[in-house]
Amino acid sequence: REQNPALKIEALCAGYGRFDVVRDVSLRVGKGEAVALLGPNGAGKTTVLRAIMSLIKNRRGSIRIGDTDVSSFPPHRVASGYAAIAPEGRRLFTELTVEDNLILGAFRLRHEKARVESLLASVYALFPVLLTYRQRRSSFLSGGEQQMVAIGRMLMSDPEILLLDEPSIALSPVAVGIVVKALLELRRRGASLLLVEQRVDVAAEVCDRLYIMTHGEIVEEMTPDDIKHEGFDIINKYLG
Ligand code: ATP
Repeated sequence: REQNPALKIEALCAGYGRFDVVRDVSLRVGKGEAVALLGPNGAGKTTVLRAIMSLIKNRRGSIRIGDTDVSSFPPHRVASGYAAIAPEGRRLFTELTVEDNLILGAFRLRHEKARVESLLASVYALFPVLLTYRQRRSSFLSGGEQQMVAIGRMLMSDPEILLLDEPSIALSPVAVGIVVKALLELRRRGASLLLVEQRVDVAAEVCDRLYIMTHGEIVEEMTPDDIKHEGFDIINKYLG
């Protein structure tokens, strides 16, 4: 029997007010698969992620995470072990320590102390540098390290799918390298991820499959190999 994918979206329409900025989007992320949603500014990528988290009121279509239809769940319920998001710009509490930022990600598990401790240990095992800096205010970390905290904070809710919104944005080349390494490490651990990116190189290095989105619609699906062999023309067509 085939396993349900980590995420399956069918015929999603979503927008603000009465205006749809996402139209008839269908996509899937298999268990342990990494998938990118690529597209120019304003294509609607962030809106897809926010719709998955139930943060958009104007939304139709079906969203399944694993065996569960989460389409009608309120945001706190989606965030309680189904999906977690690392928003664009990371949105850490920069005055708090690294460890306190991580623990905030486990808010729903606050009554399960042992579970929180073990999740924390697994985040530190994944990103040992965060253990070194655990008592530091997160504002003292580099951009790449802060992105690791944002990823770690997602892992603290033990979700079935991780949603990342442009983790490479506004980072130095060194920091982008750190983020790519962190994402590859997540993959080795078997995480399922949906990565919103504007950088084709980052998406192609990390992901198994890529969807191209323009003007609120998915217009193409490809693999990193397609891009290597013929795709930069296709990419230029859509991303400019
Ligand atoms: P970016 O990389 O700029 O975030 P994106 O592909 O993620 O691009 P979205 O952020 O999903 O695009 O935005 C899609 C469209 O929806 C844009 O035209 C944007 O102006 C509009 N939009 C986004 N947020 C809101 C909002 N809160 N209210 C009204 N319109 C919005």
